[in-house]
Amino acid sequence: MAERTVLQPDDVSRALMRISHQILEVNQGADDLVVLGIPTRGVPLAGRIARNIAQIAGLEGHDLDPEAFVGALDITMYRDDLRRRPLTQSHPTEVPLSGIDGKVVVLVDDVLFSGRTIRAALDACRDLGRPRAVQLAVLVDRGHRELPIRADFVGKNLPSARSERIDVLLSEIDGGDDRVIIRD
Ligand code: 5GP
Ligand code: MG
Repeated sequence: MAERTVLQPDDVSRALMRISHQILEVNQGADDLVVLGIPTRGVPLAGRIARNIAQIAGLEGHDLDPEAFVGALDITMYRDDLRRRPLTQSHPTEVPLSGIDGKVVVLVDDVLFSGRTIRAALDACRDLGRPRAVQLAVLVDRGHRELPIRADFVGKNLPSARSERIDVLLSEIDGGDDRVIIRD
């Protein structure tokens, strides 16, 4: 089995900082933003993006508390392949007090593949309220979409064979350094 590191720790930080800047640019600031991570690894990524956004806004004289606009979206009950998967709930849904009505929701996940997880996330969102817009940020887009879904913000496009596996290692969950590895 061959493995190749495609993102080193600095690459991961840079990609997330770039995405954070892009989110602010596209939305002309952080007003009305709600950043929701999809468990498992989307949750710490959403936290990092929210902190980056607060840091950038701070440099521009706007005081933001990242905790006020970050959360998690559990999609376990919304998957269309529920019966094929164990019913383990990795992280409950946690939405900021502001709710998502009228907000720009930025969904965050580690890897975008078939698009089925995001389809489920859109269903989960609909049950929470009516956002003004929903956008998608992913650390890695590995292709192989089965639905008409695309990411607005991508850390790294990583064309992959279906048989390959991409490991996303994040310090908050996996310990050690951040890293993205492709294995075949
Ligand atoms: P999709 O639903 O788009 O097929 O797959 C995306 C979801 O499955 C994401 O939540 C992601 O965590 C996980 N996933 C799919 N393919 C991979 C992969 O190659 N590597 C990793 N680390 N996660 C994947
Ligand atoms: Mg996942």
